[in-house]
Amino acid sequence: MNIYVMMKRTFDTEEKITINNGAISEDGAEYIINPYDEYAIEEAIQIRDKNGGEVTVITIGGGESEKELRTALAMGCDKAVLINTEDDVEDGDQYTTSRILAEYFKEKDVDLILGGNVAIDGGSGQVGPRLAELLDIAYVTTITKLDIDGNKATVVRDVEGDSEVIETFLPLLVTAQQGLNEPRYPSLPGIMKAKKKPMEELEIDDLDLADNDVEPKTKTIEIYLPPKKGAGKVLEGEVEDQVKELVSLLRNEAKVI
Ligand SMILES: Cc1cc2nc3c(=O)[nH]c(=O)nc-3n(C[C@H](O)[C@H](O)[C@H](O)COP(=O)(O)OP(=O)(O)OC[C@H]3O[C@@H](n4cnc5c(N)ncnc54)[C@H](O)[C@@H]3O)c2cc1C
Repeated sequence: MNIYVMMKRTFDTEEKITINNGAISEDGAEYIINPYDEYAIEEAIQIRDKNGGEVTVITIGGGESEKELRTALAMGCDKAVLINTEDDVEDGDQYTTSRILAEYFKEKDVDLILGGNVAIDGGSGQVGPRLAELLDIAYVTTITKLDIDGNKATVVRDVEGDSEVIETFLPLLVTAQQGLNEPRYPSLPGIMKAKKKPMEELEIDDLDLADNDVEPKTKTIEIYLPPKKGAGKVLEGEVEDQVKELVSLLRNEAKVI
């Protein structure tokens, strides 16, 4: 099977984020594999181990993304592809990303593409469905289970806490939801092996794309942090008095009742 994982390098939203000149500051930011893409990588490795074939992990980004690609190789992917856009494309959006990926996949014999349900930074959840539409293949989002039997795929997807079971066929694109699996940590032998695994680097020109083919369709007007929360208030005394005070605060201070 030809299995591909699209992986995004994101900043770690658990760490402190600062904004400088209207953009998220890279200074001091920690970068990680988008957590939903870790589920996609784990699932791809398990499917390969069961059905045979090869897993290729692909990212669009700058040269620094090699680190996350090596981590994916250390987890067990077979090959990595970096589409390096740092010299060619200054700005991009979901259109840019899916268009570049579609151009890459156009000439490939694809059975399965896995990605994250959403990137924890941009958070649009658009890249997977857009790519599948451009490639004209079936897609299922927010999946929590995937069984492949020959050409047939049985997928369970999360629908706001409930589950939906879908039967479909390869070639297929799926996006991973939390709960799909438990992503492995790279082992020491895995890290050693990863150093020797192939990493291909491509640029926009190699994909027969011109810079204006991938110009973003959207413009970010402003990025800002949520307003700081005021200090909380702890009510004290008898429960009855606390309830009275709470009602009074809600009526007179918060003015919500
Ligand atoms: C050339 C270029 C320049 C960019 N410049 C800027 C910029 O100046 N400012 C800015 O804020 N953002 C920039 N971006 C990022 C871009 O706006 C979005 O982050 C990107 O299109 C994905 O949208 P999202 O994060 O909402 O992903 P979602 O649609 O939420 O991601 C879902 C899944 O799609 C896949 N995916 C998403 N992005 C990538 C990727 N890059 N490579 C491989 N797989 C991926 C992953 O599997 C991910 O889990 C740039 C992107 C590109 C390609």
